[in-house]
Amino acid sequence: MLPFKLVYSDDYYLPIGSHVFPAEKYRRVRDRLLENGVCRPEDIVAPRAATDQDVLLVHTPQYVEKLKTGTLSAREELEMEVPYSPELVRAFWMAAGGSMLAADHALNDGVAFSIGGGFHHAFPDHGEGFCMIHDVAIAIRRMQRDDKIRNAMTVDCDVHQGNGTAAIFAGTRIPSDPLPSASASTLNPTRPAKMRNAHAGDVFTISLHQDNNYPAFKPPSSIDVDLPDEIGDDDYLAWLDNALSSGLRQFEPELLCYIAGADPYREDQLGGLSLTIEGLKKRDDLVFRVAKARGIPVMVTLAGGYARKIDDTVTIHCNTVIAAKEVFGPS
Ligand SMILES: [Zn+2]
Repeated sequence: MLPFKLVYSDDYYLPIGSHVFPAEKYRRVRDRLLENGVCRPEDIVAPRAATDQDVLLVHTPQYVEKLKTGTLSAREELEMEVPYSPELVRAFWMAAGGSMLAADHALNDGVAFSIGGGFHHAFPDHGEGFCMIHDVAIAIRRMQRDDKIRNAMTVDCDVHQGNGTAAIFAGTRIPSDPLPSASASTLNPTRPAKMRNAHAGDVFTISLHQDNNYPAFKPPSSIDVDLPDEIGDDDYLAWLDNALSSGLRQFEPELLCYIAGADPYREDQLGGLSLTIEGLKKRDDLVFRVAKARGIPVMVTLAGGYARKIDDTVTIHCNTVIAAKEVFGPS
């Protein structure tokens, strides 16, 4: 039995046909966690789909109308990079409902997962990069509307920058001086990463990502760490530690939304970093330990993962649940 809940629905499945996005990964993660005894059936709770009102907390009425009536332009559908269907709309509304439920459980139990979600490339008025609507942003805005939280922090460790998250929560930002770099001794001086910092509104956004990757234009997050190609576990963990410390010096979130992409993995087809499966689990462990030490509830979503072997993607996502169990479980 887990000391927290896993939110999952078979309706998370994205009906996108043969696609680099492995739509069956959600069911496979759930199955593997049950088979390996990491969780029991009673740890898993089913979400209800978000309502249109929930979605409208983040997205424009015009965009929601286009999605509900199937009237996206060809260019808009191309930019989304997944084929439009009413069934796909239902799957994304379910993902948003799942993240809302996970946020709620996180406030009760200290941590909760949605075995789905993390669609961080969706903007208020359009979808991009396999993301139709922004489930995490919808969950945050719903929690705020219900007076359950006043503010939140997103920690996005997907290999691609969280451009939708940055745009949605942009607010009024004042660029600040560059931060001191992570302990230089652990980092390769010939291939420096860059850390950019801007003042945040009520949601503080942190993104660690490969600089030389989609999206080409990266709207500023509160903290962006632009990583060079092919950095490995040690450098990545040093930058993550640095970004978390810096963010939490500036901001005290009532909820941390961890976007735990599996695509910084060295075997990823859409990523160019060189993390190992063990390094990715250390990444998860670091996020959970930092949050637990400060008493910040954590809501986790899966986001991307395009390993050559889908089994590796499933392993990386399952390890995130195992890392949470080790940190938040009885010691
Ligand atoms: Zn990604």
